[in-house]
Amino acid sequence: MARAFIGFGGNLGDTRQIITDAIVCLALRSELQILTKSCFYQSAPIDANGGDYINAVIEIETQLSPYGLLHVCQAIENEFGRERPYSNAPRTLDLDILSFEGVTQNETELILPHPRIIERSFVLLPLLEIAPNFFLPDLGELKTYLPKVAHQRIEKLPCRNCNCGEKAVYSQAAH
Ligand code: AMP
Repeated sequence: MARAFIGFGGNLGDTRQIITDAIVCLALRSELQILTKSCFYQSAPIDANGGDYINAVIEIETQLSPYGLLHVCQAIENEFGRERPYSNAPRTLDLDILSFEGVTQNETELILPHPRIIERSFVLLPLLEIAPNFFLPDLGELKTYLPKVAHQRIEKLPCRNCNCGEKAVYSQAAH
């Protein structure tokens, strides 16, 4: 079994509901188990068009290979109407594999760990919320990269049905 982290984002339609539904679709797959889900975050678009994005990260355990997981993620993007009219276009749903166990590879179809993992507050904040000591061999502790993304606007959204949002998490103000 491999542990992997998947990042979700979108800025077209009711993205919070779309991500929730996509996570349910993943949970229904027998080849993977969802271990943890971050809260939702609202972030400013970076190198992209349209309105604010909604983001979240989950941790999973899976018997799939890295490419097997990528193909599941792409199937779910397509199920939710993802279109790619042009690069960085607004999107209903984007799934990125952020890391897959200890796999490091640089193939066009699948780069692991994800190449922009330390460059985006919308990845780092939800990821560190569920894995505060997340470490990558080539990059070290990911929390040390928070100051570099502190200028990127992002807000943690309150949870609707629980008070987990009250827990202390990494905040931009604290770094
Ligand atoms: P986009 O959905 O526009 O963010 O880009 C998806 C493209 O990035 C696809 O062609 C994937 O094969 C490729 N890709 C490379 N590395 C990854 C990764 N770690 N997670 C998801 N897609 C990836």
